[in-house]
Amino acid sequence: MKKHVFSGVRPTGRLHIGNYLGAGKNYVSLQDEYECIYSIVDLHALTTLEDTDKLQENIYEAFLDLLATGLDPQKSIIFVQSHVPEINELFTLLSMVTPLSWLLRVPTFKEKARLHPQNVNYGLVGYPVLMTADIVLYKAEVVPVGEDQLPHLELSREIVRRFNEHFGKTFPEPKAKLTNFPLVVGLDGKDKMSKSLGNYIELAATEEETTQKVMSAVTDPSRRLRSDCGHPEVCNVFKLRMHFEPAAVEQLKNDCRSAAIGCVDCKKALATAINHNLAPIRARRAELANNPAHVRDVMADGARRAQNIARQTIDETKHKMGLR
Ligand code: SF4
Repeated sequence: MKKHVFSGVRPTGRLHIGNYLGAGKNYVSLQDEYECIYSIVDLHALTTLEDTDKLQENIYEAFLDLLATGLDPQKSIIFVQSHVPEINELFTLLSMVTPLSWLLRVPTFKEKARLHPQNVNYGLVGYPVLMTADIVLYKAEVVPVGEDQLPHLELSREIVRRFNEHFGKTFPEPKAKLTNFPLVVGLDGKDKMSKSLGNYIELAATEEETTQKVMSAVTDPSRRLRSDCGHPEVCNVFKLRMHFEPAAVEQLKNDCRSAAIGCVDCKKALATAINHNLAPIRARRAELANNPAHVRDVMADGARRAQNIARQTIDETKHKMGLR
């Protein structure tokens, strides 16, 4: 039997190339080796989202992007977290074995509490418990993550160990599978590519939008004049070209260091490479967007299949805990 993989995507709207390189591309490559379960984790969005007017639209757009990247609903289960209500039950059950002190020490909780002091809610502190429930509801053994998510997964493993110690072996301890391109820096060259920071390129952007965004990217800050020699190792445009145009990087290293190429031409080449690489995804997305009934069917089928697994896990968990 194939091992289960679980991963969740927050529904912040259309995915960007950071999501694609850091997660989506990897998701597709895992489909043959594992039983993959991918979720749009809409409940997680509620922990910080104050305005939910666009939540349904954001879920749909992210779902469309996942399908467009090449996820195959025949191979993988792709669904929306809240469409399988058993998640709420397991969240409650796991919260009974999770010490509050573990949750209060999580760095991202502290950071979010600092950024949103007006909204430090119970759901926010319980976020790692919900994340653990997401994984173990489907008995996932493998979780594709970026390096920045390793501490969260470690906490999930601790929660699982504690549950298993108290109530007997019930859940596998999930293991991280690091992605090949773990951290994608945004166009500002500083922070992780993210919607909230505005330093992203949407997967579904037009070619013109993509070029415009790439041309605004920050490069090697010490290179002020066209004649200055560059340092590709500190340049994010270089890192993106490494991914979208790997065959060109050795030459680019030399050309950048010797000032044989300027940043404008280098960025134009990056835009061309991104547009070329993403063309099939963008075409597939346009096709899917023209058939919303099909997309809704895939979503409903994913939820049905996920719920079949979830129901069994809940029955077993409640039995172990003495609830039935
Ligand atoms: Fe970066 Fe390219 Fe400019 Fe070198 S030439 S600094 S790799 S944008």
